[in-house]
Amino acid sequence: MSTLYPDFLEKYLTEKEITTLKERESLHTYQFNELTFVRLSQEYKDYPRGAVFYEKGIIPGYPRIMRILHLENGINRYFKDSFYVEEKVDGYNIRIAVINGTPLAFTRGGFICPFTTDRIPDLIDTNFFKEYPEYIICGEVVGPGSPYNTEAIPYVDEDVVFLVFDILDEEGIRLHIEERYKIFERFNIQQIRRWGPFNVSGGTSDMDEIKKIILELDRDGREGIVIKPVSDGKSVKYVTLSSCLRDLEATAHLITELPAGFFTQRILRAVFFCHEFGIPLSSEYLISSAKALYLIPEQTLKKVADGESVKEFFDVRVRNKNTVDELIQHLNRSGVRIQLVSVEKSGDHYRAKFYRIYIKGTRELRHRLMGKGFFD
Ligand code: ATP
Repeated sequence: MSTLYPDFLEKYLTEKEITTLKERESLHTYQFNELTFVRLSQEYKDYPRGAVFYEKGIIPGYPRIMRILHLENGINRYFKDSFYVEEKVDGYNIRIAVINGTPLAFTRGGFICPFTTDRIPDLIDTNFFKEYPEYIICGEVVGPGSPYNTEAIPYVDEDVVFLVFDILDEEGIRLHIEERYKIFERFNIQQIRRWGPFNVSGGTSDMDEIKKIILELDRDGREGIVIKPVSDGKSVKYVTLSSCLRDLEATAHLITELPAGFFTQRILRAVFFCHEFGIPLSSEYLISSAKALYLIPEQTLKKVADGESVKEFFDVRVRNKNTVDELIQHLNRSGVRIQLVSVEKSGDHYRAKFYRIYIKGTRELRHRLMGKGFFD
């Protein structure tokens, strides 16, 4: 059976590639502002997941970042020349690109996020695109006013901020790191924190400095670092011990929603961190982890037994009231059920409160409560 796709795809992909991608169900067409976009839902050849094709070009996907669990050995293995250490923050990834004169915000998966697109004028100086219309700004939206994340972060008190960490060109090539730092400084666009440049081939002092940075980030309740080469090469990511515990605390209510690997990965990261830094796992850390992994699901189970669903609450600010409906439609489209609670005018913005219902996780708990058996 042949399915229709927009003709412009043939500018970027061969007929054979399109057929393969269709067979894999990796191409998804959608409309926005009367424009047609096709997003790639799985990595293919040089295209990362989330690449978006449209009539006049491609929004390259944001590349995956390899993780290391042993900081010193990972750095020695992958960085022979100079590199920078950037803070890794925990929010959601956004690429901002200008299409037909309008800046649009794309999620990691290649959807247009109505919330972030609405808030672009609050997040960056869009004069950037007058000078660099072909560039794509990549960064993380963080803060308690996020429509996607619920993990509390100690460094943003309200609403959201956009912290930028890359510039891609239309071919997906990253702008040279130091040039990027300068351009963002010139436009006063808020960049992620950074340290460096470092070079570990000359001795141990830079390595000691990096270890100090990670220990400080750990104490300050920060997520971790992304290490990026000055010249060619791959970036790597490494997270703090405290972030592993915060992840467990923020997600244990989703124990029947998330894959088990999500939780075991956090345990492994914590164990590696303690091994490398010679830190004994304190009773306090162990108790908090056990509490997160047992008490939070226990509370969730009680709620479901009382007839409630597994839920998460959100409180977001938007500039245009219509954005609330668009956001809810967008979230519903990504397989999540949303219930709007209220929309109120608040200064220059509208404040929308809603909650997300986790259908699969709720159903599984209900089935177990009803005594339904299963094979594990
Ligand atoms: P990946 O797709 O790289 O395997 P992921 O989507 O599971 O990973 P994470 O494990 O959190 O996400 O790590 C990668 C993400 O970290 C990036 O996609 C980006 O959104 C975010 N990030 C935060 N800070 C930075 C930074 N300084 N540089 C690059 N990415 C960063």
